[in-house]
Amino acid sequence: MITGQTKLLGVIGYPIAHSLSPVMHNAAIAHLGLDYVYLPFSIQPTELKRAIDGFEAIGLQGFSVTIPHKQTVMPLLQSIAAIAQAVGAVNTIYRTEQGWEGTNTDVAGFISPLTQMQRNWQHTTAVVLGNGGAARAVVAGCAQLGCAQVRVVGRNPQKLQSFLASWVDSPLAVNLSVHPWQELPQLIPQADLLVNTTPIGMNPHPTASPLSDSDAAHLQPGTITYDLIYTPNPTQFLQQAQTQGAIAIDGLEMLVQQGAVALQQWLQQSVPVDVMRQALKQHLKLP
Ligand code: NAP
Repeated sequence: MITGQTKLLGVIGYPIAHSLSPVMHNAAIAHLGLDYVYLPFSIQPTELKRAIDGFEAIGLQGFSVTIPHKQTVMPLLQSIAAIAQAVGAVNTIYRTEQGWEGTNTDVAGFISPLTQMQRNWQHTTAVVLGNGGAARAVVAGCAQLGCAQVRVVGRNPQKLQSFLASWVDSPLAVNLSVHPWQELPQLIPQADLLVNTTPIGMNPHPTASPLSDSDAAHLQPGTITYDLIYTPNPTQFLQQAQTQGAIAIDGLEMLVQQGAVALQQWLQQSVPVDVMRQALKQHLKLP
């Protein structure tokens, strides 16, 4: 029940109607019996500064940030955590005595299911498909895991070069190289971890995959394949991987875990990750 003392959390984006964050955060808040509510805010890019000032005025406790504000919000904050600086994007903002601090929980969300696995990451090669915003969190995650090599595959040579250049002075030590899509047949057999960060295969195109069938045939049994997409579940990419005997991780866990880290930051207490996962599965009608 919303009372006169209910504390406010939320998410900003444009558009925002598709966001799943209210589902998982409000489920966790209800489970914990806290007097909080998590609301979606549709904020046009031109209104971003006014919105942040307004949040200050109404005493919002903290908020998530999604497309298209993850970078543009950064100059409006009083401080930015080192991990968000390394990624170049903020997805979570919370109050400090000095003002708003931005951080990035996508990195922790991405590595969470990987750290549960018994692997010697220092000897692994990661191949990352795509060089957009999510790929930045994945590269930072691979650096945190300590992967020996990270190979980023993209379709636009200029974007690939600027992606590479953006990591040169990064505080995160990462052995990064960039590759055109045509090199996939040589790269896939070297991959201990293969991550799809492109939207290829996302609903409403569930039969599409970033890998052709001949690319997929190069996958080795035991390779960890990870699709950041969470609908459909499993994606065509993960189905191809499983056919080859590879291990499959879907994007739902990253979504849940990045949300859990953010909620923990706002509430300063542990949060029910299972409740958040179940709420999302129910909402998405997943088994
Ligand atoms: P983005 O910034 O637009 O980046 C998308 C990347 O995919 C770009 O490098 C783009 O290449 C590439 N790409 C798109 N279509 C392609 C195609 N047909 N062939 C080859 N490459 C293609 O998007 P994003 O924010 O990184 O998000 C990417 C995906 O990750 C989305 O499906 C999103 O839902 C998912 N995601 C999931 C989570 C989670 O928590 N599970 C979190 C974040 C994102 P160009 O640069 O050449 O255009």
